[in-house]
Amino acid sequence: EATTDAIRFDNSYARLPDRFFARLAPTPVAGPRLLRLNQGLARELGLDPGWLAGPEGVAALAGNRVVEGSEPLAAAYAGHQFGNFVPQLGDGRAILLGEVVDRHGRRRDIQLKGSGPTPFSRRGDGRAALGPVLREYVVSEAMAALGIPTTRALAAVATGERVVRETFLPGAVLTRVAASHIRVGTFQFFAARGDTEGLRALADHVVARHYPEAAEAEKPYRALLDGVVDRQADLVARWLLVGFVHGVMNTDNMSVAGETIDYGPCAFLDAYDPRTVYSSIDAHGRYAYGNQPRIALWNLTRLAETLLPLLAADESEAVAEAEAVLGGFGARFEAAYHGGLARKIGLDAATPEDAELANDLLKAMAGNQADFTLTFRGLCAAAGDPAADAAVRDLFVDPTAYDAWAARWRQRLAEAGRDPAEAAAAMRAVNPAFIPRNHRVEEMIAAAVERDDLAPLDGLMAVLSRPYDDQPENARYAEAPDGGGVGYRTFCGT
Ligand code: AMP
Ligand code: MG
Ligand code: MG
Repeated sequence: EATTDAIRFDNSYARLPDRFFARLAPTPVAGPRLLRLNQGLARELGLDPGWLAGPEGVAALAGNRVVEGSEPLAAAYAGHQFGNFVPQLGDGRAILLGEVVDRHGRRRDIQLKGSGPTPFSRRGDGRAALGPVLREYVVSEAMAALGIPTTRALAAVATGERVVRETFLPGAVLTRVAASHIRVGTFQFFAARGDTEGLRALADHVVARHYPEAAEAEKPYRALLDGVVDRQADLVARWLLVGFVHGVMNTDNMSVAGETIDYGPCAFLDAYDPRTVYSSIDAHGRYAYGNQPRIALWNLTRLAETLLPLLAADESEAVAEAEAVLGGFGARFEAAYHGGLARKIGLDAATPEDAELANDLLKAMAGNQADFTLTFRGLCAAAGDPAADAAVRDLFVDPTAYDAWAARWRQRLAEAGRDPAEAAAAMRAVNPAFIPRNHRVEEMIAAAVERDDLAPLDGLMAVLSRPYDDQPENARYAEAPDGGGVGYRTFCGT
């Protein structure tokens, strides 16, 4: 009866030393019901969507059945949470089922989230509520469609059980797919224990898996740090360029593979304001939109500290190596961010003047509560046709703030010799028309949780799978919320 090879696992993490994880199976649930399966991702992973949606597949996705070849485990990690070090966190409600090599030859983790308690659960129940599972499903898939490195969502399964939060809520399990689930906090786990051999085994694993070119470098561990720094600098720049606020950039929520991971209290900007914070627990704005580059560097500095014993035998030499690599973050981030901003306003080469021009637009937007996504998408049309200025200037409390900027912008576009239609087309490829708007995400969650209605989920997923296409029939998904979304709040770990 058991179909062998239904998932062809090849588990490299499970071959690491025992102290890296606790082996255990997911805890079965009372009433598994497949809510949604990501068929495209299933095929990319070389999995049969028909099998996954059938009784054996759903049982596997619910944690009720361990598929042959799976070596389920909860990974150990540590981390700084809001700046405070916690020496042991770990997968408290997630279980790695194993790894598969996808159709493109890339190794991917398949993990269940919300799959029951583990030795790392502390006071938690190991479960997840339906609302946050669907939020992660939609937002992580939207990020992928935007072209931003991210973990993916393969499936959402209802458990038929209630989870106790402030109230009783329907439970669910998310199947998450990632290049790996290795975090800055995984390195911190071994460093905090003075376990240099564990650290070296982890670093070697990460080099082989994510930074194979580093293995050839003269100083492989320095090259590893350099690679992580570059990917994080690029990643955070890309977040800023679409208005994404991660919300809980603790070191245990930063992937060393450079993917966006751990969608909890994340949200997208409506009105542009770099001080924007959505997370209800981020009282001091540590993880505000505009702080994200600074926090990324702070987290990378924590990673560098863990690597000191591997960087050089002599400590001051190791510190000098680490500082040299960390010193490269700023330039890498600036290049990605300013290059991206220039492209958002139709300019190819980001000269310092272009960076200033883009910054002045952002300042005008911040001073006038202009919607981030609508402004940049509006500029695409305006680049091709000045008559389209009317729609953009209306987004500003004082529309003349836009007029003054637009005059400078047009002059710069003319100087750059960009063909207006070409500029407009290039801009449409980098300025999404559709992001997972907070009010639409909330609407989708309410429909699913209160009425068992998944139609809004399907509507959102369809629109967000083509974020750079004009979809006039889906205009309601592009609309900004009333009042610019001020006061919107998100919640962690529910
Ligand atoms: P997060 O804030 O989601 O990154 O989680 C921080 C830590 O809390 C991680 O070790 C999680 O595994 C753990 N955690 C979060 N929610 C739960 C839960 N419901 N049960 C057990 N552990 C949890
Ligand atoms: Mg986490
Ligand atoms: Mg989490």
